[in-house]
Amino acid sequence: MDPITFDGQVAVVTGAGNGLGRTYALELARRGAKVVVNDLGINPDGTGAQSVAADATVQAIVDAGGEAVASYDSVADAAGGAAIVQRAVDAFGTVDIVINNAGYVLDKSFVNISFEDLEKMLDVHLRGAFFVTQPAFRIMREKGYGRLLFTSSSAGLWGNFGQSTYAAAKTGLLGLSNVLAVEGAKYDITSNVIAPIARSRLTEDLLGPMADALDPELVMPISLYLVSRNCDVTHEIYSAGGGQYARSFIAQTPGWFAGKGTHPSVEDIRDHIEEIRNEAGYIVPSDISAESMALLAKLT
Ligand code: NAD
Repeated sequence: MDPITFDGQVAVVTGAGNGLGRTYALELARRGAKVVVNDLGINPDGTGAQSVAADATVQAIVDAGGEAVASYDSVADAAGGAAIVQRAVDAFGTVDIVINNAGYVLDKSFVNISFEDLEKMLDVHLRGAFFVTQPAFRIMREKGYGRLLFTSSSAGLWGNFGQSTYAAAKTGLLGLSNVLAVEGAKYDITSNVIAPIARSRLTEDLLGPMADALDPELVMPISLYLVSRNCDVTHEIYSAGGGQYARSFIAQTPGWFAGKGTHPSVEDIRDHIEEIRNEAGYIVPSDISAESMALLAKLT
C-alpha cells in the first residue's frame, strides 16, 4: 500500500509548540504538509505567553527540510481564531486540515471553582475550537474538502475528580464535532475527536508509573490518519495512548417501550429500570434523525 502523505496540503495545528501538537506538526510536515504552528506559549497552568514554543517547532520542521510558519495568537478569542486561519491563507493560500489541540488543565474540586475558572476552560477548549474552526470550515466548504480533529479528554468522556470545568469544555467538543460531521458531509469535510493519553507538561505529575509508556508519539499516528485524504471516517471518537487505539462511542440501549398511547407511571419506570438500562442490542445513531427513525418505527 502507498504511504500516506500530505503533499500539497495546508494544516493548522493549535498548541503545536509542545507535547502532542508538536508531534503532529513535525510528522505532518515530514509527510509533505505546509504547517501553521500555532502556540501562545503559555505555562502549564495557563499563565504567561512566549513565542519561543511555536518558533522551536517551526525551526525543527525547517531544519528537517519541511515548510512551516509560526502563529502566536490565542485560540481563546474570536480575533485570535480568525488570525490563525488567516496566517494559513496568507502563507500557503488555503487550509485543508485543522487539528484543535491547544489547551491546559484546571484541577479544582467543584465547590472551589470560580466563574472565572469556568470561563477560562470554556474559552481555551470549547470556544477556542469554535473560533479556529469556523473560519476554516468556511474555506473548506467553499472548496469541497476538509479534515477536522478536535481534542477531547477521558476526563470528560468518563469523569475525573477535580476536573469539572475542563471535562465540561472538552465534552462540549463532541457536540461541536458531531454537528460539523453532519454539516460537512456533502462537502467532503470530516470531523472526528481524539481523546489522548500521553506524557506531557500537563500530565507529568498525574500519570505515575505509566508515564514512561505514554510517549506522545504514540498518539500521533491515529490523529494523522484521521486528518488524511486516505481516511473518510467521520463523526467518531477515538481514544489513543501507550500504543492502544480504540473507538469510544455514545450508544443507546433498545430500552423499554411502554406501548403506543400508554401513559406509564413513575412506578412503571421503577419496574422496568433494568430493561431500560440493559446494554444488550444497543445502537449508535448516526445522527438525530437516525434516533428519531428508531423511535418512529416503534410508534407506527
Ligand atoms: P502541552 O502543554 O504539552 O501542549 C499544549 C500547548 O497548547 C502548549 O504549548 C500551550 O502553550 C498551548 N496553548 C495553551 N493555550 C493556548 C491558547 N489559548 N492558544 C494557543 N495555544 C495555547 O499539553 P498536551 O498534553 O500536549 O495537550 C494537548 C491537548 O491534549 C490539550 O488540549 C489537552 O487538554 C489534551 N489532552 C491531553 C492529554 C494528555 O494525556 N496529555 C489527555 C487528554 C487531553
